[in-house]
Amino acid sequence: MASEISTIPAASDGAIVSDTVSVLIPLALPKPYDYKVPVGMAVRAGDYVVVPLGSQELIGVVWGAGSGEVGHNRLKAIVEVIDAPPMPEVLRRLVDWVAGYTVSPAGSVLRLAIRAPGALEPPRLRTAYRLGDVRPQRMTPARTRAIEVAGDGFARTVRELAEEAGVSDSVVRGLVDAGTFLPVDIPTEAPFPDPNPDAQGVVLSAEQAEAAARLRAHVDAQHFVAVLLDGVTGSGKTEVYFEAVAAALTQGKQVLILLPEIALTSQFLERFEKRFGCRPAEWHSDLATRERRRVWRGVAEGRVPVVVGARSALFLPFPDLGLIVVDEEHDAAFKQEDGVAYHARDMAVVRASLGKFPIVLSSATPSLETVVNAEQGRYEAVRLDARHGVAVLPEVTAIDMRSNPPERGRWLSPVLVTEIAKALAAGEQSMLFLNRRGYAPLTLCRTCGHRIECPQCSAWLVEHRFRRELACHHCGYSAPVPKACPSCGAEDALVACGPGVERIAEEVAELFPEARVAVVSSDNLRGPSAHEAVFAGIEAREVDIIIGTQIVAKGHHFPWLTLVGVVDADLGLENGDLRAGERTFQLLQQVAGRAGRAERPGRVFLQSWMPEHGVMRALVSGKRDEFLAREAAARERVALPPYGRLVGVVVSAPDAGLAQRVAREMARLVPRADDVSVLGPAPAPLALLRGRTRLRFLVKAGRSVNVQAFIHAWLDDMKIPNAVRVSVDIDPYSFM
Ligand code: ADP
Ligand code: ZN
Repeated sequence: MASEISTIPAASDGAIVSDTVSVLIPLALPKPYDYKVPVGMAVRAGDYVVVPLGSQELIGVVWGAGSGEVGHNRLKAIVEVIDAPPMPEVLRRLVDWVAGYTVSPAGSVLRLAIRAPGALEPPRLRTAYRLGDVRPQRMTPARTRAIEVAGDGFARTVRELAEEAGVSDSVVRGLVDAGTFLPVDIPTEAPFPDPNPDAQGVVLSAEQAEAAARLRAHVDAQHFVAVLLDGVTGSGKTEVYFEAVAAALTQGKQVLILLPEIALTSQFLERFEKRFGCRPAEWHSDLATRERRRVWRGVAEGRVPVVVGARSALFLPFPDLGLIVVDEEHDAAFKQEDGVAYHARDMAVVRASLGKFPIVLSSATPSLETVVNAEQGRYEAVRLDARHGVAVLPEVTAIDMRSNPPERGRWLSPVLVTEIAKALAAGEQSMLFLNRRGYAPLTLCRTCGHRIECPQCSAWLVEHRFRRELACHHCGYSAPVPKACPSCGAEDALVACGPGVERIAEEVAELFPEARVAVVSSDNLRGPSAHEAVFAGIEAREVDIIIGTQIVAKGHHFPWLTLVGVVDADLGLENGDLRAGERTFQLLQQVAGRAGRAERPGRVFLQSWMPEHGVMRALVSGKRDEFLAREAAARERVALPPYGRLVGVVVSAPDAGLAQRVAREMARLVPRADDVSVLGPAPAPLALLRGRTRLRFLVKAGRSVNVQAFIHAWLDDMKIPNAVRVSVDIDPYSFM
């Protein structure tokens, strides 16, 4: 990333601009359009304005001076300037930067930045009353009490005054009519509490204190630097970066902590509260509209000191951001795949560079990209090598499924079953991890061999036995489980193949009927409160065996959990993409890190049919750096990221023939360029998705190639029929 940072386009500053301004509109438009500023209207760069476009009126953002491409007399005029703080200049530059980097229309990126519905409407006010100088001519005991209550000078609503004084509303209204209580407008929304940087910190170990001091120094200096905070799970990375947060707060700066959506738990928020005395503002997809509005507005007005959010929080309009922390920086959830395909971690580094402040990337299993950036000196590395206190890293063992296979029709090896029994007997918790929702990933007809597929996607339907249906995990299609095979009509011939978490739960219930079991997957937990309830139950030791998908892999701290069993450690290696090994390692290491986080040591068992595989060996030996060095060498040999660059290009259309024709035409028009090769078109692994046929190109280029320029040269002048979609993904993480 660092090499691109120097090419940031210079953007106009916030100065007052002339009678013509350019306005960027949050639609898929490549650039801002010019508008006239009516006489008497003052407009600043960054102002949110209402402008006409076609027959509509839309909200846009003043991007700078007009381009002058269209004569002033032919321009339409701005209708209205919205009463809100202007979009900060760094955010406007970030929008341009992300658009340039991802080869997306600037307007589409802008949409990410003004996605809080209603946030630009004037804040709703309610009327409250405070005590004025006039006293009523006639005094009553009730009136006296109400005046006494208001005597402290605070404004209150009629209801509040009446309640506190123990009088009726009409007594208060009478005093309003008499001019004793004077109306004031107050915001309807709750204010944001101020985190206290000097509240309850833990006493840091020497290693932690040294790491914290380095982060603090960077924050105090307010210069750009990207720091990799690299430490094993449980080493206290969170406590350490909280010190950097405290330093930023002491300076009066705003702070953004980015987390993968599913790691944004109330456990995390409570930890924050314990350290800083109050909760931070939250930003994620489950937030109610009103709360989004409140947070967006609070951030824009500089009233929100700390936001903890998922990736889209990067585009909040912080006027005075002084620190970003990206926790679990390796997590693929930071990569947005739809629409503007951006990587929030990488774009956060850009944001920090534009704003000239530090960014901390924290992980126990950093991405190869980040590790290489640290090795090559672009990022600074800070390491924590020990788990906090008496906690030690769990011992990891691979179970060779070839020599210890489960019984027929079962999925848990006898070795793992014995370990679960031991943990149960000791009153400790076990976790069985399988990253597969539902009951079975495939339903097959025993008579004709037919596999039940989604009608709209090239994917098998997954059986969900609790809901008694077959579901597509790509498009959401679902149907009841049929009685007969849809292909040959044979009755009672359909069999479930392979396990999902529900099936493991069934096996556990048979093996350990007395154990209390919780299945934790997105299907049986709808909404954040359901998550909180189940995690609270686990913490309170109301659960003996947790069976979960990746939801349980991250961030949680369960002191009584000592045994982790990975049901299918080979699962992530199946699809064989560039990062399959790295990501399997990261995920399983995270899962393993759930075990033995307190006094009781943890044990981890990996069920594998290929325990000799490099990933399994690395997990067992704990030699992460060796594993990463091997991965890096393998990628360097074939010039794959981070040693080379990739761009995914997907062509899709509802009509297969049309998609193929356009893809062939695109192949013919591939420009010649040094150190660039274009593979494809080939049918995508997900060749059919939501009824659209998909073909893929993969652009492979050297590290120094400007792939964005190549994509523009290739695609800008192509005539693409309306029904066809061509999506470009710079630095792709998904190859489906
Ligand atoms: P990581 O983020 O590296 O996984 P955490 O910051 O979550 O590690 O720390 C793991 C656990 O140890 C947490 O419960 C944390 O509060 C505790 N802990 C870490 N460092 C200290 C310390 N210096 N004093 C007390 N508790 C600590
Ligand atoms: Zn589907």
